[in-house]
Amino acid sequence: MDLKWSAADAAFRDEVRGFLDEKLTPELRRAGRLMTSVYADHEASMQWQQILHERGWAAPAWPVEYGGCDWSLTQHYIFSRESTLAGAPALSPMGIRMVAHALIKFGTDAQKNYFLPGILTGEVFFCQGYSEPEAGSDLAALSMAAVDDGDDLVCTGSKIWTTHAREANWMFALVRTSRTGKKQQGITFVLIDMSSPGIEIRPLVMTSGEEVQNQVFFDEVRVPKKNVLGKIDDGWTVAKYLLEFERGGGASSPALQVMADEIASVSAQQPGPAGGRLLDDPAFARKLADARIRTEVLEILEYRVLSAVAEGKNPGVASSMVKVLSTELSQAITELAMEAAGPRGRVYQPHATCPGGPISEFEPPAGDYLSGEPWQAVAPLRYFNDRAGSIYAGSNEIQRNILAKAALGL
Ligand SMILES: Cc1cc2nc3c(=O)[nH]c(=O)nc-3n(C[C@H](O)[C@H](O)[C@H](O)COP(=O)(O)OP(=O)(O)OC[C@H]3O[C@@H](n4cnc5c(N)ncnc54)[C@H](O)[C@@H]3O)c2cc1C
Repeated sequence: MDLKWSAADAAFRDEVRGFLDEKLTPELRRAGRLMTSVYADHEASMQWQQILHERGWAAPAWPVEYGGCDWSLTQHYIFSRESTLAGAPALSPMGIRMVAHALIKFGTDAQKNYFLPGILTGEVFFCQGYSEPEAGSDLAALSMAAVDDGDDLVCTGSKIWTTHAREANWMFALVRTSRTGKKQQGITFVLIDMSSPGIEIRPLVMTSGEEVQNQVFFDEVRVPKKNVLGKIDDGWTVAKYLLEFERGGGASSPALQVMADEIASVSAQQPGPAGGRLLDDPAFARKLADARIRTEVLEILEYRVLSAVAEGKNPGVASSMVKVLSTELSQAITELAMEAAGPRGRVYQPHATCPGGPISEFEPPAGDYLSGEPWQAVAPLRYFNDRAGSIYAGSNEIQRNILAKAALGL
């Protein structure tokens, strides 16, 4: 793989920079800078998706016939890195990076024609209904019942940890249509209209005060069979395919590189434990160098996944490697960020949170915290949110089990 930028790549980078300069308003950049997790403020994210869609860049990794971009790997990388550097808010992965790939592979023409254009414009906004109170790592133990009733499946049960359930108008979910045979059999992949009667959503409040995850209750919710993706009782095939995109469908290395650069510049202003600059402290410098080296390794792996996706393949076990490496590295980098942020990073600042938004009862001390220092303000929230990285999208222990079996043949 030749990683040197050609004149054409440099021209593409300038084109992307020009676009970002023109289109990213100060409000959108602020939303990007204040991200405390993999999600940006919902409104800002949707606004940015609309702008990208108008330019044809909302879903660059999709096949061109469905609205993707015929980009080289280098162009994908340039776009991702430049967007991160410019402070663009992230787009929600559930539609564009996750269920869309399953729709493209398993969807009927009617499903593709309805959902894919809606996902691109943001009119269709998906949440993911996999986990249940008694089914997380052991996902195949899921029990939300779907009873066959003519043209419909009638669903009763509960999903938990559902990110953005309140913002979503559609959910892709796994439901139990049969209890005979192996537990992986008898699962069906359905697309549920969130405005259907019988759905109740209760937010789960995180320790940071944010309300992004939810528990969703279903009481005899009717799902038309035309909204089954793949075959009834064979949803496990669709779910496994989609999970590989969830675990490795994006590029997290540019954001981690940007954070490592920020840590370097902030730690150059901070005093070290033995006097001098924190950046020159040998223990701190070693940890930062280690993080940068691991980021480069991750970047190469992400190229592999991106390359597979761009060729219409699924990412395979590389997605489990990316998931483990990226989340553990991100946790190490947010720990370093806390160290670099110094005393200011240790202040709990709920008014700075995004998503979750300002908390109305909280009055920030006048003239402090947010005045020009969003990096220090969000460092603790990023740190806390990042602890979940090794749990969601299949815990890292489970990813290691997959790697042991599928990659090492143990
Ligand atoms: C912030 C956040 C957002 C999320 N968003 C969504 C969402 O949008 N949609 C959705 O469907 N789900 C979502 N989840 C749920 C997530 O996928 C589950 O939390 C995850 O799969 C782990 O399941 P669990 O919480 O039930 O833990 P458990 O499965 O009970 O696991 C508990 C612990 O035991 C370990 N463990 C379990 N089995 C094994 C094993 N066989 N070998 C070794 N170790 C094992 C796990 O690694 C973990 O450390 C989200 C979770 C979080 C934290």
